[in-house]
Amino acid sequence: MPIGRLFGIPIKIHVTLIALVAFMLILAPAEANLLRGVFAVGLIFGSVLLHELGHALVARRYGVRTREIVLLPIGGAALLVEHPREPMHELWIALAGPLVSLVLAGVGFIGFLVAPLVGLADLAYINLALGLFNLIPAFPLDGGRVLRALLARWMGSPRATRAAARIGRLIALAFLAVALVYGHLVLGFIAAFVFVAAAAEERSVVIQQLVGQKRVADMMQATPEIDLATSVREAAHMFRDLPYLKALPVAYGERVVGVVHKDDLEGDGPSADERPVSAIADRNVVTRGEEAPLMELLHDMGAARSRAAVIVVDGQVRGVVTVEHVLEEIRAARHAEF
Ligand SMILES: [Zn+2]
Repeated sequence: MPIGRLFGIPIKIHVTLIALVAFMLILAPAEANLLRGVFAVGLIFGSVLLHELGHALVARRYGVRTREIVLLPIGGAALLVEHPREPMHELWIALAGPLVSLVLAGVGFIGFLVAPLVGLADLAYINLALGLFNLIPAFPLDGGRVLRALLARWMGSPRATRAAARIGRLIALAFLAVALVYGHLVLGFIAAFVFVAAAAEERSVVIQQLVGQKRVADMMQATPEIDLATSVREAAHMFRDLPYLKALPVAYGERVVGVVHKDDLEGDGPSADERPVSAIADRNVVTRGEEAPLMELLHDMGAARSRAAVIVVDGQVRGVVTVEHVLEEIRAARHAEF
């Protein structure tokens, strides 16, 4: 739920957070506790918001925009439009959040020494916890990004991503073991979350590295074009001759009609199906030129839920970009030893 903008960045609250506050209002046993509870929630989310703004504003300094800041019951996230390309930029963007938290903790601590108010102690405690927890070197926590940026300086980004993700998973497993031994449910949840999120973060960095600066032409597979009257049997024959292809574009004159997916043909053997390909063509395709940014194409394909894009240059079909091929490339990039 959007609640406003700060420094031009949309700030959103996740509905579960509102549910949490409502829950507290209903369950609060006494008025004093209720006030204290609401104050604590406000303090936590104010602290998280400032932490995330730390990330967002340093990112902006390096020319990386923040799409939005989302506040969740378990913390927050500043969603950057792209991963910073320079390791040193990533390092400072990642450090900015915990630094804001530690400074706020210091302010709370010094304030408490001057005027011993419970609120100031809470401010110090919450921000110290927020700053230190986020510095744990496990993806997707800030510490994991710091570790990745440091590793990237001497082993290159792809290897650093894998190494940092591995270290993050090991730390998550260690936490999980501790949580099981001591029966600590919350720690167990956090460990499981870090373990799962580490893989997602790794994937997203690999995709960014693989796709980020590329054009459609870099992921395109050149294909012959087939017309509406081509039979399914002939299409199956073409797939046998070009085994790496997952889809063939179908065009009618200059108009792209759709694609025939290899998966939609029955079996790998010779086909006796004399129906025209138009009978089995998938018409939900995106068309694009060769020079378009690859990221944009993949985004549009995702939005349209289409499995293939047909690449057209000067009215001529040049090839296809299929989801299967992109996933294969991502898998290969993840498993390759850089
Ligand atoms: Zn952070």
